Amino acid sequence: MQGLMMDYPLTLTPLLDRAQRLYPHKEIVTKVGPNLERSSYAEVAARAGRLAEALARLGVLPGDRVATFAFNSNRHLELYFAVPCMGAVLHPLNLRLPAEQLIYVINHAEDKVLCVDPGLWPAVEKLAPHLKTVQHFVVLGDHTPETSLGSVHAYEALLAEAAAGFTWPALDENTAAAMCYTSGTTGHPKGVVYSHRSIYLHAMALVMHEAMNISERDVFMPVVPMFHVLAWGTPYACTLVGAKQVFPGAHLTPLDLAGLIQAERVTVTAGVPSLWLGLLALLEKERYDLSSLRDMIVGGAAAPRAMIEAYEQKHGLNITHAWGMTEMSPLGTVSRLTSSQLERPEAERFALRAKQGKSVPLVEIRAMDEMGREVPWDGQTYGELQVRGPWVIRSYYSDDRSPASFQEGWFRTGDVVTIDPEGFVQIVDRTKDLVKSGGEWISSVELENVLMGHPKVLEAAVIAVAHPIWQERPLACVVPKPDYAGSLTKEELYEHLRPRFPKLYLPDDIVFIEAVPKTSVGKFNKRLLREQYRDHQLPA
Ligand code: AMP
Repeated sequence: MQGLMMDYPLTLTPLLDRAQRLYPHKEIVTKVGPNLERSSYAEVAARAGRLAEALARLGVLPGDRVATFAFNSNRHLELYFAVPCMGAVLHPLNLRLPAEQLIYVINHAEDKVLCVDPGLWPAVEKLAPHLKTVQHFVVLGDHTPETSLGSVHAYEALLAEAAAGFTWPALDENTAAAMCYTSGTTGHPKGVVYSHRSIYLHAMALVMHEAMNISERDVFMPVVPMFHVLAWGTPYACTLVGAKQVFPGAHLTPLDLAGLIQAERVTVTAGVPSLWLGLLALLEKERYDLSSLRDMIVGGAAAPRAMIEAYEQKHGLNITHAWGMTEMSPLGTVSRLTSSQLERPEAERFALRAKQGKSVPLVEIRAMDEMGREVPWDGQTYGELQVRGPWVIRSYYSDDRSPASFQEGWFRTGDVVTIDPEGFVQIVDRTKDLVKSGGEWISSVELENVLMGHPKVLEAAVIAVAHPIWQERPLACVVPKPDYAGSLTKEELYEHLRPRFPKLYLPDDIVFIEAVPKTSVGKFNKRLLREQYRDHQLPA
């Protein structure tokens, strides 16, 4: 017997329609230079319709890729809806990729239109001669820049010329809606294609209390860029529930962010740890009223326990730790404590919150050993995390490296984890970042977290360095806080580490550096550090 419910396609069009009807005046705020530009769901929806009309006039057909090269803004949000809802595919480009990777990605995706923030035009103009498929450039402002390139349009002029009342097509829910390329991999980036259905279901999961807990009452500020896994899906989740959105534009310094949170009374925000470490350092020196902030979602890299503690104990601010991947739209796990865990002593609660947390509904997880057998959920045994669910990829886009990433229909994340009996996942390392010392595996993440708990340390990255007897040994690269640069000693750090780790785990050496190099999405770039310290002589 079959159920007798409607076969209702999960597409993004009704999501925008609903926000327009129910929350027309709800604000969408963008920081542009010193000013704040204010739009609303009514305006975003109306302008998305004109944009779709304009793109159709430029020759964009269903399935065509429309790339963006832009910071977080209301115009970017309009593109987030216009492109997928007209049946085309949104492709946000990572602004920080080196030119050769951008060229690869644009050509591989066969982008037809490229929409660019005015301030970023010079970078795009340089790429233009190498782009094989781009037919039109759209500059996201009032004017076109002076250029010798043909087919460059001003966004506002296109919208002004386009008719209102675009009729959105009826789409199959499995139609491609957007694509992002992975970052930080060796070799070319790999394409991940999201469908309307996967984005819709992911947005519904995001708003749940178990995940980001976003409602109409929230003021949400995505600090995570809109090119990093679609700002973690948050613009869609916020639109789904009608939350006010605050976009920081190109202004991402701790000073800008603190000012914006204070001025717009932001309640929830999300981004990678390096940003929040920066904000924490600012808050040590200057006072801001951040009392509106209910939750800071931190993911993309491990949130150090010391940071979680410092925010809560010194500033009364809550960090919620989450884990995910471009290949997972990105949400996988969130560290929200259960009712019984909330009753445990403070130290235990912080330890749990520093883990990456439980899988969210609809994401299944397992951890596998090197022989391909599932490891027990005992909180100790290491295994590679594998996942499956409706917003997890089943293949990379047109890439023959795909098969290696799957086992029996599960996606292999490449993250080494333990899972405890309560289902809390802890990321130990990327497979390639584990330090293999003798027969033991040493977690660089654990060492980093404890090092970053030292009051004089700003950042710490631990990498493996070749060793004649042990095969590999850990080397700690430490950035002291500005006030302690030059005075912090290795011995102080060893004293801090010794009571917390077996002797074998202690780094063989500690080097002081000015900054940990970052990847294009702001994570520690350990590959670069490994290259820099490949020939580092460890003390005997
Ligand atoms: P990306 O697709 O660029 O977002 O990178 C995904 C990878 O980032 C994951 O496979 C993890 O290695 C890492 N990652 C994401 N979130 C976390 C987290 N909360 N803790 C530790 N690593 C994380």
